[in-house]
Amino acid sequence: MSQPSSVASRDFDYDLFVVGGGSGGIRAARVAAAAGARVAVAEEKYLGGTCVNVGCVPKKIFMYGAEYASHFRQAKAFGWDLSVHGFDWKGFIAHKNAEIQRLNDIYRSLLVNSKVDLYMGRATILGSHDVTVLGKRLSAKNILIAVGGRPYKPDIPGIEHSITSDDFFFLEKLPRRALVVGGGYIAVELASILSGFGAETVLAYRGDKLLRDFDEGIREHLTQEIKERSSIDLRLRANVERILPDNQSGYRALLANGEELAADCILYATGRYPNVGGFGLENTGVTFSQQGFIDVDVCYRTRDPNIFAIGDVVGYSQLTPVALAEGTAVARYLFDKDAFHPVAYTAIPTAVFCTPSIGTVGLSEQLAEKHGYNVWIYESKFRPMRSAFSGDQAQAFMKLVVDANTDKVLGAHMVGPDAAEIIQGLAIAMNKGATKRDFDLTIGVHPSAAEEFVTMRQVVRETQPKHPHLEGTPP
Ligand code: FAD
Ligand code: NDP
Repeated sequence: MSQPSSVASRDFDYDLFVVGGGSGGIRAARVAAAAGARVAVAEEKYLGGTCVNVGCVPKKIFMYGAEYASHFRQAKAFGWDLSVHGFDWKGFIAHKNAEIQRLNDIYRSLLVNSKVDLYMGRATILGSHDVTVLGKRLSAKNILIAVGGRPYKPDIPGIEHSITSDDFFFLEKLPRRALVVGGGYIAVELASILSGFGAETVLAYRGDKLLRDFDEGIREHLTQEIKERSSIDLRLRANVERILPDNQSGYRALLANGEELAADCILYATGRYPNVGGFGLENTGVTFSQQGFIDVDVCYRTRDPNIFAIGDVVGYSQLTPVALAEGTAVARYLFDKDAFHPVAYTAIPTAVFCTPSIGTVGLSEQLAEKHGYNVWIYESKFRPMRSAFSGDQAQAFMKLVVDANTDKVLGAHMVGPDAAEIIQGLAIAMNKGATKRDFDLTIGVHPSAAEEFVTMRQVVRETQPKHPHLEGTPP
């Protein structure tokens, strides 16, 4: 381990001052402290940040809760004679809040046990080495900005009547009729949750296929499944122009095509933007990209040499594991250089916890082609065993994008049960450069949906393959 820079920084109160106690900030603080640095964290709202309080964690809890409805429905086919006596929303929210509090406390202990000083307040940066928080002026050799992002809502008349994902997890009652606007991660996840819990749910998206930037096969399959087999009322090419209060329904959303949608809850999930305003960045040399993210180099250094930034505020990939990896990397870069290695941004697996769920890693077919690969596409569509047995028509979809020249698997994509769990293992194989032949030679787990990934043999499409393929793959 290299010498902690505290040796050279006696004049500062801290070696590292972290602004933001979310996923990335806490990780960086702990790794830096473990390397011997004197570290402080300022957090203005809640420890654990977006992920723990209004993101991944409550979302997954809500998703588990909502899934019971379909489990109850399917149970009869498996011989269970159940009667369900309603749903206790208030009790559920209280239990969720208690769980989040437990996690907040764990984060607090982790910091305290790591000897990190915690300031529960909003920090303002005064200059390259100075911050103020809770009325104290403090100095640090390095400052790390890990302030995350916040929901974006378009500026249309009546938008103040809508809520965002930040409010969703604290609703006092389950909406009777919900309108979700957007077609990205949050919109499809929260629409699935609302409809799973039994709210009449309309999902209004301005495009013609959900989840832009995902593989086209995934987009088509998910859009079809939601349209045909879910109770979500999916409106495509739907642009909300105005929201009005309404005595009967609560609110009315007026669409550009003249339609009106009534709802007692209108939730906007139209993207997130970086939290860069109102905490003194104008006192620094920090610069921004066109999209408003903080510019950093490969070591997360901003244009102000002693100020670093990671996570959603940098925006390479707005996912918790990415913020965690960046937090580790920046702390090692500063205080444990021998252990530093840059974050690998290729083949980052990601899941969308909608119904049906999505898991994806690597290149989409369209991106692979754009990058000049000749690709072989393998696809499979089938009814998962639980659906088939219980009479559900839900179909799973799996797809591999293979480099026709090297046989390397460039992308793996799935819509169906347990997609998140399945895709994680594939990401390891792909990061190690697995070929389609490696997939073919792998023995499947039976009976499982995952085994389909090692049994797909038929190329369904190809773009100018240059030489014959290997044994076990198509003719
Ligand atoms: P954050 O976790 O947002 O932390 C930033 C912290 O900084 C906040 O706590 C904030 O209060 C604090 N702060 C801001 N300004 C100041 C200041 N001036 N002084 C002091 N404190 C300040 N990602 C996944 O990988 N999987 C998922 O399933 C997933 N689900 C999500 C669901 C939703 C609804 C949302 C909104 C996001 C989800 N994400 C998910 C994304 C994930 O939550 C973020 O990528 C991750 O939290 C980013 O971490 P961060 O450290 O950059 O920022
Ligand atoms: P996304 O960028 O995924 O989606 C935003 C959606 O809003 C898009 O469908 C976009 O349409 C639409 N939109 C944007 N502006 C407007 C507008 N003015 N009017 C109407 N629609 C609009 O953002 P999210 O908010 O869903 O999520 C933010 C990020 O958080 C994600 O990108 C992801 O990184 C992270 N996240 C991760 C999760 C996970 O890992 N499971 C879960 C939730 C969030 P268009 O496509 O046409 O641009």
